[in-house]
Amino acid sequence: MAYRAVLFDLFDTLVRFDRDRLPLVEIDGKPVRTTAGHLLAVMREYRPLTLEACYVAHVASWQEAERLRAIDHREVAARERFAFFLRRLELDPVAHPDLVERLLRTHGRVLGQAADFPAHHGPLLRALASRARLAIVSNFDYTPTARDILERAGVVGLFDAIVVSDEIGWRKPRAEIFDEAMARIGVGPEAALFVGDRADIDVAGAQAVGLHAAWINPDAVPLPAGMRAPEYEIRDLDELPGILERS
Ligand SMILES: [Mg+2]
Repeated sequence: MAYRAVLFDLFDTLVRFDRDRLPLVEIDGKPVRTTAGHLLAVMREYRPLTLEACYVAHVASWQEAERLRAIDHREVAARERFAFFLRRLELDPVAHPDLVERLLRTHGRVLGQAADFPAHHGPLLRALASRARLAIVSNFDYTPTARDILERAGVVGLFDAIVVSDEIGWRKPRAEIFDEAMARIGVGPEAALFVGDRADIDVAGAQAVGLHAAWINPDAVPLPAGMRAPEYEIRDLDELPGILERS
């Protein structure tokens, strides 16, 4: 079978999220990597607030989003998450649409700066794009940051579709987000390969809709118990051209 398309997960597949690149602040005497300091600067234009209170609301809004996501894989978009954040701080998000936008952009920009695009992925993607359609299928709550990361890496134009759960409303491993990506590039599962780092989300989700999966597993950890083996297991994306040649 010849693959006519390659679909990629984004974080920890195409780009590495480097937590150490997030701003460092001190919360209750302990160093913490977080965007909360930047959010605080925005919030203080609207109401007095301490860094600690801002951080607690930020963490609580993340935990609430994660709780909801775990129920059925519905995405909780960053806009919804920051509405929760503001309500926790006794501000009405509906009355402050400009504040919601500024928080979204600020958080997204600072998070985006923590994304590290390995230099060898650029030439690799260009070579793959010359022989297959490429798409992104990402679980992420704010599409502009995902696009911006690819843009700054100089590769955004190589993708025929950038499908982010923020926009689709469903997260991997749900079939809806894989199906949407395939519809957008006009290639069915029988002719496409999915590449991702999460066995439970990327590999299982892709296989459930009939895609072949390449599991990127740089540290050679064992496959989680009970999981169907991926069609390919790779340590680095540089193994993909060989897979496409053999297909
Ligand atoms: Mg990932």
